[in-house]
Amino acid sequence: MKKSHPTLTWTIPFVALLLSAAAHSQVKTVFVASSSADEYDAKVYRAIWDEYGERIVTALESRTCLPFPESSLSAMVAEAVSNSGGPDHPMRLRASYIRKVKQSTLVHEIGHRHLWQLSERLDDIDGHMTLFLVLDRVWADVWGEDFANERVRGEAGWDEDYAAAWAWARSLSPQERASLWDQLLSINGFGRCNGLVSSETERT
Ligand SMILES: [Zn+2]
Repeated sequence: MKKSHPTLTWTIPFVALLLSAAAHSQVKTVFVASSSADEYDAKVYRAIWDEYGERIVTALESRTCLPFPESSLSAMVAEAVSNSGGPDHPMRLRASYIRKVKQSTLVHEIGHRHLWQLSERLDDIDGHMTLFLVLDRVWADVWGEDFANERVRGEAGWDEDYAAAWAWARSLSPQERASLWDQLLSINGFGRCNGLVSSETERT
C-alpha cells in the first residue's frame, strides 16, 4: 500500500470501493473432487472462481439488484448432472465439461442459489425462465456478448425445456425483462431495479 496522502474528496470513494471489493471476495467457494479422477476438473473450476468469482458476484448483484445472500459456497465436482444443491447442500458441477461450459454452468448454478431469496415467483414463469431473465446478461458482463450468445445456444441444445425457456427469455426486450424483474422484486418486497434496462453494462 502506498503511503500517499490522498485528499478527502477521493479517499471516500476509494475506501468504499475497497470495502465493496472486500465484501465480494468474501464469497469463498470450495470445490471438492468426488473422486481422484475429478481432481483436475475441480482445479479448473477453482481457477475459474479465483479469476472471475468477484466479477460474477458483482454482475449477479448489479443485474438483479439483490445482494448475494451467501458468504461461502461449496461444490462437488463429479461426472454427473450439474445442480444447484440446497441451502445446506453443495452444488454439483459436471467434471467433463470443457472450460467455457464450466464457466457458464458455474454461474448458472450459483444464479439459481442467488434467486432462492425470491420466494414468491411470477405466474407461469418457472425457475429457469426466471433465471434466464438475468443469466445471459451476467455471462456477457463477465465474458462478453459472444460468450453469452454461444452459451445460450449451448444450453438451448440440452433439451426442449431449456430451448423453450431460452427462446422465451431471448424474445424479450431489455425493457420487457426489466418490467418482469420489477414485478418479481415487488412481490418479494424489494424496490425497483434498473439492472436490466440497458442491454449492456460497462465491463471492467
Ligand atoms: Zn438450472
